[in-house]
Amino acid sequence: MTILVIAEHDNASLKASTFNTIAAASKIGGDIHVLVAGQGCEAVAQAAAKIAGVAKVRLADAAIYKDQLAENLAALILANVSAYGHVLAPATAFGKNFMPRVAALLDASQVSDIVAVESADTFVRPIYAGNALATVQSPDAVKIVTVRTAAFDAAAAEGGAGVVEALGAAADCGLSKLVGREIASSSRPELGSARVVVSGGRGFGSSENYHGLLEPLADKLGAALGASRAAVDAGYAPNDYQVGQTGKVVAPELYFAIGISGAIQHLAGMKDSKIIVAINKDLDSPIFQVADYGLVGDLFDIVPKLTAAL
Ligand SMILES: Cc1cc2nc3c(=O)[nH]c(=O)nc-3n(C[C@H](O)[C@H](O)[C@H](O)COP(=O)(O)OP(=O)(O)OC[C@H]3O[C@@H](n4cnc5c(N)ncnc54)[C@H](O)[C@@H]3O)c2cc1C
Repeated sequence: MTILVIAEHDNASLKASTFNTIAAASKIGGDIHVLVAGQGCEAVAQAAAKIAGVAKVRLADAAIYKDQLAENLAALILANVSAYGHVLAPATAFGKNFMPRVAALLDASQVSDIVAVESADTFVRPIYAGNALATVQSPDAVKIVTVRTAAFDAAAAEGGAGVVEALGAAADCGLSKLVGREIASSSRPELGSARVVVSGGRGFGSSENYHGLLEPLADKLGAALGASRAAVDAGYAPNDYQVGQTGKVVAPELYFAIGISGAIQHLAGMKDSKIIVAINKDLDSPIFQVADYGLVGDLFDIVPKLTAAL
């Protein structure tokens, strides 16, 4: 049985999510091939070939894959899928874009957001905003699986000796084109893969307080900034900072929840963090039920002191 992992990349380098997805594939058992579809992405293919456990990289280098549009990417996967028992992609915005299309066109049931592999056809995935885990068996000939990256340690970047094989482009579907992409540039680590995340909630009271107090703390810790949905909705932080059920799922080594109540929808995105520190003035806030360290007090007093002490 051979597994095809779809690489997430920006035509220059692999995203961290690809390494986690390959780690998930290695738990299934069988040869692992990686599809690198893009334009001018030879270096990405070479890097993928070095990842531990990768037997082959299939490189589709053509202008129609530059923007990795769902229609063209799905057509390419479908044209090559007969050689595979599984297709895996990260359950990031990238994988969520084209994998349902692949599943629908194959008349298969997508197994979404897996956190564990039980066997080649059985996977574990969270349901009810992470409050329960479902064990799901897929009877499909080709299993279409997206992977919760935070649930799998990254595969080693070195150690593989995969061969890179050129793959012909499938037809251009011509159904969509990328008009523009706004990429938030930040010197901070990416929220989804950061080792430390500093998140703020409605307790901050304003955008000025959120940025003025949290950024110095994040600078000291080399952390990514996160936020609750209430903080995002109130305009304290941009949308892509949101952690939770309808935001990003993170599992850093250290997660700070500051002025965040700990509603289940927020917990769904961060409760697998290794160490959780909560700062909240209300002792009864549910965040303290998941926190490893809890500080009851006023964040306007505690955060500057904590930053100064670091
Ligand atoms: C379908 C659905 C999906 C959702 N998805 C998400 C999601 O992805 N992510 C998410 O976060 N939420 C999500 N929510 C919203 C969620 O239910 C909560 O409303 C939200 O998480 C609350 O954010 P908060 O804790 O910042 O605000 P609040 O609930 O207002 O809590 C603020 C906290 O700050 C504390 N505080 C106030 N002032 C201070 C101070 N000076 N010092 C210290 N502490 C202070 C308070 O004690 C309180 O605990 C979703 C809701 C629904 C219905």
